[in-house]
Amino acid sequence: MTTDSEPWPPDGTRFRARWIVPVDGEPVANGFVEIADGRIVAIDDRAADDVVDLGRVAIVPSFVNAHTHLEFSNLLWPLEPSEPFTEWIRRLVGHRAKWIGRLTNPRAKSSDGFGEIVFQGLDECLAAGTSAVGEIATDYWDPGVFAADRPRAVVFRELIGLSKERAEQQLAVAGEHLGSGRDGEPFVRGLSPHAPYSVHPDLYRALVALAAKHAAPLAIHLAETLAELELLERGTGEFRTMLEEFGVWNPEAFARSRRPLDLLEPLAELDRALVVHGNHLSPDELAFLGERPRLHVVYCPRTHDYFGHPRTRPHPWRELLDAGGSVCLGTDSRASNPDLSLFREMQFLRSRFPDVMPRRILELGTAAGARALGLDDEFGSLAVGRPAHLAVVALPPGADGDPFAALLAADSAVVASAFAGTWSRDRG
Ligand SMILES: [Zn+2]
Repeated sequence: MTTDSEPWPPDGTRFRARWIVPVDGEPVANGFVEIADGRIVAIDDRAADDVVDLGRVAIVPSFVNAHTHLEFSNLLWPLEPSEPFTEWIRRLVGHRAKWIGRLTNPRAKSSDGFGEIVFQGLDECLAAGTSAVGEIATDYWDPGVFAADRPRAVVFRELIGLSKERAEQQLAVAGEHLGSGRDGEPFVRGLSPHAPYSVHPDLYRALVALAAKHAAPLAIHLAETLAELELLERGTGEFRTMLEEFGVWNPEAFARSRRPLDLLEPLAELDRALVVHGNHLSPDELAFLGERPRLHVVYCPRTHDYFGHPRTRPHPWRELLDAGGSVCLGTDSRASNPDLSLFREMQFLRSRFPDVMPRRILELGTAAGARALGLDDEFGSLAVGRPAHLAVVALPPGADGDPFAALLAADSAVVASAFAGTWSRDRG
């Protein structure tokens, strides 16, 4: 292993590791990965000249963070309190309003626009071994920060509207977002009707139809809290109080009793959709998703824990996998998570669910995320011919047994990553 003072990577094109873990394929002990022109040109375990031995590390495909909001990447720690959830949302809305005030005040000293903050978030992702993100973008998003040499993003434009007027305006924003893409731009455009409590049912239907027309991916926060279920079913509870307080309560939007299944059903028409959180999906809703693996549930483990959801109900990710459904992982934002490391989400799962095979957990954070974002041609596994998007993980002593267990051990750490063969180093 090189020390901090040495340059990274050491000069070379062939990198030997205790384990190469391609994900799609069996681990290779004491193998090397050879990189040329940004691509993987060999994965092998033979003796070879000019091989740089990285020591007790694993080389793995870089990670896929299927859900985040990078505009909060400058928060040093999560917003408090985390409960009740609507109180956290009030804090979030307050934080955004303050930030927007600073950005739009010509006398403000801050040079951090939302673009810079998102840029900072992408850098943090890359250093932590993440090469692809599902990003939720709001009014101030800046397409310029998503470049060909940065983590690849699927940019889901967030849409919020409960009144008829606002719904019309948001539908126009969505159309503009999908319609203004140009050939070869280094990100993918999608839509994100925000959540059942912030989107009128008519707007939701129109947005799903628009996504279908453009064959665009869609993401929605769904079944996140019991309070959301109460609002959908009866139009009452803490969400109603909050919406009234914000002056956006529209009784007509909640006149008909609904449940998450009513929002899942239209998604079945799409090529691909992300159901973010899904903490409180019912058994029949899990069965529905189990039969439709193109609808991917994004589980955000540390955020789920931050909000205290395990006390009301453990996340149903294992039931969903058993039913044949698709699960991938996200960090959500720094407003509910101390960092944007997808690797730490997997380590967290490994420590909380020691009975789940670590191989399965690694799959969720790599190949499953790549499939969910529609980026599986390029991301989520190591193979000859693919771009060299990879992470280098330092393993604890005794790493000669199960490489997957060693990889996700509490004392493993990402030390470097490469995006299309260009290296970054984790200095955290
Ligand atoms: Zn979110």
